[in-house]
Amino acid sequence: MSTFVLPPAVSVVVPVYNEEAGLAALFARLYPALDALGERYEIIFVNDGSKDRSAALLAAQQRLRPDVTRAILFNGNYGQHMAILAGFEHSRGDIVVTLDADLQNPPEEIGKLVAKMREGFDYVGTIRRQRQDSWFRRNASVAMNNLREKITHVRMTDQGCMLRAYGRDVVDTINRCSEVNTFVPALAYTFSLRPTEIEVAHEERAAGESKYSLFKLVRLNFDLVTGFSLMPLQIMSFLGIALALASGALFIYLMLQRLLFGSQVQGVFTLFAITFCLLGVLLFSMGLLGEYIGRIYEQVRGRPRYVVQAVLDDTADVQPAHGLHEAGAEAKAPSLASSSR
Ligand code: UDP
Ligand code: MG
Repeated sequence: MSTFVLPPAVSVVVPVYNEEAGLAALFARLYPALDALGERYEIIFVNDGSKDRSAALLAAQQRLRPDVTRAILFNGNYGQHMAILAGFEHSRGDIVVTLDADLQNPPEEIGKLVAKMREGFDYVGTIRRQRQDSWFRRNASVAMNNLREKITHVRMTDQGCMLRAYGRDVVDTINRCSEVNTFVPALAYTFSLRPTEIEVAHEERAAGESKYSLFKLVRLNFDLVTGFSLMPLQIMSFLGIALALASGALFIYLMLQRLLFGSQVQGVFTLFAITFCLLGVLLFSMGLLGEYIGRIYEQVRGRPRYVVQAVLDDTADVQPAHGLHEAGAEAKAPSLASSSR
């Protein structure tokens, strides 16, 4: 019962995790904003294992606008970036836009991104004008941005803003990656030939609260750093060399002092200080190694990155625009247990 036969030009991917309080407001603004564009579009909601009524609300919305709405339901919580990747795999548009469900990025800005893509760019990043987050989030994020800028090759002014547009080639390349822990904007940047950035508005969360705890945020940033740089490991080796040289020098100095001035009581405390400092460095290094090894372990285990419980889709007779996708033929709603790596 699809109303169009041509594939959509713009796909909008929206990850949803426990957003029942804000979904109605999202629907009320997202559809009119896209209708106003005058483009063929599709919206792909990915329910990331919400424990509230989000899945039911998405299903109802899919029934309301089956021509342009598809919903992918995960069987558990796999994280925002996995949800986006699932959306990418099911997307058919030449331009794929990602948008948060909480209305922090106004859907009305999508038109700007699409216009910029049409100028010939294959990746449009965004910078939040007057970011509306807590003081701690803003400053921690600036610090993390600076650090990431130094140790990875990824150049993004504002890594946290997820309202972005990706070209079909970039999305296809991302679909061929099988990374378990990743950061989609950085991955896209890696594959993009003509990236650019524009400023977009940023609002306070319409409803509910941030789905990122401090722990999840730290993990995400570790994903970003370890996934795109080996420099932390190399810094460790250099630190090791520097420490070895320094302790060699210290040894010679202490020996000379002992020979010239005899043994001194304070020496014990100096030793304590040095030992604890070294212990700190050692533990940190081991932790860092662990971060990489843990990720390698998850990768070699080769489990599905996420499990799709159902795909709600009435547009299945639309031919995908590009060969890579079997998704167009995938399912009449709801299909069970297709999993993806
Ligand atoms: N999200 C998700 N899975 C998660 C956490 C978040 O799909 O495990 C979604 C969430 O529903 C929202 C988007 O990712 O659409 C961004 O999350 P949030 O607004 O909580 O992050 P913040 O704006 O605080 O960085
Ligand atoms: Mg948000």
